[in-house]
Parts: sequence; C-alpha cells; structure tokens
Amino acid sequence: MVVHSGSVLTVDGALVEVSPLNRPDAELVVYLGRDGNRDLAAVVPRDPNVGRNDDGIGGERMVGLRDFLVSASGRGVDGAREREIASTAVALATWHANHPRCSVCGDVTVPTHGGWVRRCDRDGRDHFPRTDPAVIIAITDEEDRLLLAHAAYWSPRRFSHLAGYVEPGESFEQAAYREVREESGLDVTDLVYVASQPWPFPASVMVAFTGRVASTDIRVDGTEITEARFVSREELPGLISDEGIVVAPRGSIARRLMEDWFGGDIP
Ligand SMILES: [Zn+2]
Repeated sequence: MVVHSGSVLTVDGALVEVSPLNRPDAELVVYLGRDGNRDLAAVVPRDPNVGRNDDGIGGERMVGLRDFLVSASGRGVDGAREREIASTAVALATWHANHPRCSVCGDVTVPTHGGWVRRCDRDGRDHFPRTDPAVIIAITDEEDRLLLAHAAYWSPRRFSHLAGYVEPGESFEQAAYREVREESGLDVTDLVYVASQPWPFPASVMVAFTGRVASTDIRVDGTEITEARFVSREELPGLISDEGIVVAPRGSIARRLMEDWFGGDIP
C-alpha cells in the first residue's frame, strides 16, 4: 500500500494494494506484517505527487487518514481491517519522517528491522516508534446529562469530551482526574475503562473512560477549554440540527462514547 504525508492511496474508498513489481520508486518501505498468505508493506513514494495527479489511473486518489477512518468505519469487517492497516502505516511513516536523527548524538539514523527501528550507526543506539497515550473521559452528572466541551483550537461549533495527554509519572486514571480538574474545575469519580483506539495524529493511543461528577459547577480554564455544558439526551439532537454543533466523526472513540451514552446512533 502507498502512504504519504498522512494520506493513503485509495480507489472507491478502499485501500489500493500495489504489487511489488508495480510499486512506485520508494523513499521508505515498512513491513506491516502477514495478512492471510500475503506480506503487506507500506511504501512512501519518492515522488510526493503519486496519487495526487488527476491522471488518477482507475480513480485512485490519496485520502487523509482521518477521512479514511470515517469512511472505512461504514464498511464492516473489510473496513475494520483496512483501518488497522492504514493506521499502522501512517503512524510508522509519520514517525520516520519526524525522527531522521539520533536523539542522543544527532547523527542521521537509518531504518532497520523492516522499518520498526531506526539505528544510529555512530553510537549503535536503536530508536523505536513512540506512542503517546491520551485519556478521553465521557463525564455525566447526577441527572445523567453528558458534559460537552469546546476546545479553543477546534473549529467554532465543535464539541466533545474532555481529553488530554498522560504526563510522565501518571497512571491513566491520574491523568483523567487531572485533565478534568484543570479543564472544567470538576472532580470526576467512578472512572470506568471502556476501550482504546490508536490515534496516529501524530502518535497517540486514546484511552477511553466514563466518569461521574457530583457537582455541575463548571469553571473552564478559558485557554484550552473555552466553553462546557451538560447536555441531556433530549437536547442533543436539537443542538446538532438547530444550533449547528458538530460532534466527533463516526469511527472515532469519542463518537462511540457519545453513542454509548445516547443509547444508539446520533441523528
Ligand atoms: Zn547516535
């Protein structure tokens, strides 16, 4: 498969698998693993315009991973398989692009071990791909209303759950307590782990929890989070249709948390 700058080569919404004989001239090849009786690799083409030209042989085009994850989420088992492949490929390609040098001595490193390690030939150090955990928490109050917050750097009407990176020395739970307190002034309790999702933008895994708060005295920090409110199930559809608020896309764990709370598909 072909990956470049956070995008994957697709045709009719599905990943394009290119035979090794036809693959574009490669800047990087990463072995992704065994799929049935075939070996899969991700190829980063030397020519960044591969798949971006309108000559689009057979309708092929590069699609950003976020959009691909949304569209593939509607394609059942095949879509789930391709989401995993595309997430892994983009995560590794991005890591290579962002880590060309040894973090200790500064010399140029080279890919090895099928692209899962970069080695520094000067001091012999191996450097491994990073994954940065982040927590996301669906918070409800005593009336079972859901907390929806707006982050300053999001598009204007977007609302979602509170979330943040796990800091050094923290457990996931401690990160959740701290982020909720910092961003909303609320003290969350009853954290329950739900699921996790790779989120290679650029190198995260989202760890999802539900949690409860006794107080609804929201005090947003005003810098990261500029607005937050509790929303009932009855209110949510109207906020989307009438006030134009935008919630997380299908296929994201944020959306799943919201639909778990809502009790089904959000119209
Ligand atoms: Zn080095």
